[in-house]
Amino acid sequence: MNQSTKIFLAMILGIGAGFFINLLVPDEMIQFLDKNILHLVGVGFIKLIQFIVVPLVLVSLVTSMSSLGDIKKIGRYSIKLLFLYIFTSVISLIIGLIVAYVLKPGIGVEMLQQKVEGKQGLPLSEWLLSIIPSNPFESMSTGHMVQIIITALMLGLGVTLAGEKGKPFSVFIDSANEVIFKIMGIILRLAPIGVFSLMASVIATQGLGIIKSLSLYVIGLIIAILLMAFGIYSILLIVTGQNPIKFWKAFYPAFGLAFGTASSNATLPLAMDNAEHRYGMKKELVSFAIPFGVSLKKDGAAILQGFTAVFVSQMIGANLSINQIIAVFVSAILVSLSTAGVPGAGIIMMSTVLSAANLPLEAIAIIAGVDRLTDTFRTALNVIGVVANAAILEKWERRTT
Ligand code: ASP
Repeated sequence: MNQSTKIFLAMILGIGAGFFINLLVPDEMIQFLDKNILHLVGVGFIKLIQFIVVPLVLVSLVTSMSSLGDIKKIGRYSIKLLFLYIFTSVISLIIGLIVAYVLKPGIGVEMLQQKVEGKQGLPLSEWLLSIIPSNPFESMSTGHMVQIIITALMLGLGVTLAGEKGKPFSVFIDSANEVIFKIMGIILRLAPIGVFSLMASVIATQGLGIIKSLSLYVIGLIIAILLMAFGIYSILLIVTGQNPIKFWKAFYPAFGLAFGTASSNATLPLAMDNAEHRYGMKKELVSFAIPFGVSLKKDGAAILQGFTAVFVSQMIGANLSINQIIAVFVSAILVSLSTAGVPGAGIIMMSTVLSAANLPLEAIAIIAGVDRLTDTFRTALNVIGVVANAAILEKWERRTT
């Protein structure tokens, strides 16, 4: 059995085992099992992947920039990708808003007076300042992805401009790239165990009880995510001359891993591998577009923000005004570009959107209980968006060059 099938099976078995434990094992035993086995193994696996992600993003972006060689091409890739990201994020957001207006998940849900635990997001000007790296080592040690991308782009630019003199550095980075890929291969062998444990842990500890009162919220979010993933992205793939079935077949291991880990960062290595070896994308493009996208492209976050804003307005019995909708739109798109690829990042960023639209932040506490569940779907969509946009870029490039 190949590794991809193993990851996929591990996900299904993990869900089954989670339900089994949740329904049949006494509560104290579940806590014990979770703390000492499932959570331990699952989080241990995520930490191992995080260990490789920072060097991987840095080195693959620099390698790809030096192999692309020409600055114009790098600029063109970045601009086209940003255009595609914003275009598809706007569609995601609109789908989130429409599904929320149609299903009305917030009506009848009681507003609890709980304190918000989410961090306050940054206003735009501060966010822009925060992505400029002032110390590349600090960016790497804190794992700040957008800063790492900027650092890598600057290094890649330097190597390209240095010409002959930059060659030894680029040879070194190339060799580092190989070494990192070998380490990544070892870590990914553990993916089935990690995914099984993470899925079993979430379902065993949360079960279905928690989603009862928020069932429409959860179902609505999942519907919006599925519409974007299977509907819009299939259409976009077909329009750009690609076969969606081939796409799903090539990427299901990465999507399974995203679903299991709820971390797009953790899925980066496998997404790159699937793109190159299973979907046949050019290495040069893969090693640029995928790390770039994993840090910036989050369709799941765009849907979450739009959908939740409408949900909260329904919960407090208010209709969003045009100004509030515009505020949701602008802030959700910015938030979707800056949500980190780690579990639970979306809900932390939600305070930015709710406060931009003058909605009560206390609502975050209500949906926090079901966040991990929706995060699995959101993250899978985030990764789908990253690889689908990279595939679209590849076709676009072929047509125009
Ligand atoms: N967990 C998501 C990701 O890693 C981010 C989110 O919370 O929406 O892509």
